[in-house]
Amino acid sequence: MQGVSHIRIERLSKHYESREGRVTALAEIDLSVREGEFVVIVGPSGCGKSTLLYILGGFLRHDAGTVEVAGRPVTAPGLDRGVVFQEYALFPWLTVAGNIAYGLTSIGMAKDLRAGVVERLVKMIGLGGFENRYPRELSGGMKQRVAIARTLACDPQILLLDEPLGALDAQTREVMQDELLRIWEATGKTVVMVTHDVTEAVYLAQRVLVMSSRPGRMVESFDVQVDRGQGREAVMLSDEFNGIRNKVWLAVRQQAIAAQ
Ligand code: ADP
Ligand code: MG
Repeated sequence: MQGVSHIRIERLSKHYESREGRVTALAEIDLSVREGEFVVIVGPSGCGKSTLLYILGGFLRHDAGTVEVAGRPVTAPGLDRGVVFQEYALFPWLTVAGNIAYGLTSIGMAKDLRAGVVERLVKMIGLGGFENRYPRELSGGMKQRVAIARTLACDPQILLLDEPLGALDAQTREVMQDELLRIWEATGKTVVMVTHDVTEAVYLAQRVLVMSSRPGRMVESFDVQVDRGQGREAVMLSDEFNGIRNKVWLAVRQQAIAAQ
């Protein structure tokens, strides 16, 4: 249902108990994401971005507030939500192909179908020939690409991406950004992504949200209206793109300075 908020978070709060005492990670967060929307969250380090994605993924409980996906409270991980964690943890005992196929095996997909999915995704992430390598034999950027492929393999309706391209070199990063855009445009998935990179945020998002320093709150929202059909160069060089990017950059900078 277009227009219906697919993800609805209201007055969400979360704290951690640490050795130094109580840490309020998130304070009264409100966030609504429409079905098929691509939202990117930026904010100072430690402001609770990963915490927010873990809670949406169902991996972490919140203290107070509403967290709903498709009208139902989030209580556990589910196949509707695919998460790429910041640490891109792969299963060390499985090969590249084994890691990508992991979720498909657990939902009982037939072996020959699995092989087709793995082949397509290995190609997409540019790791043809590395199917039988183990994670310890891969660079950080390669592992990160495998983690993305593993999440895409199960074809979840919602992608929760925590700095998914952080370990990639600049060129591979651009290729993967365009791949993410292509997948989003082709599938209509709902995407909530966290990044440190303001240019990346504005390049990918329909809406960029800026969080305050800890305790994290949503402080600013920027709608990004650029014609992405014109290709990367034209987008990056356009006045629209640069105008929004400068505004987002300033907003993030103000939050980072306020935290010092
Ligand atoms: P971000 O992803 O924006 O960098 P995080 O969500 O990882 O922020 O963390 C938010 C805050 O909560 C940070 O100050 C962090 O130190 C703290 N924190 C995160 N996880 C824990 C934990 N398990 N125990 C105690 N404090 C934590
Ligand atoms: Mg984080």
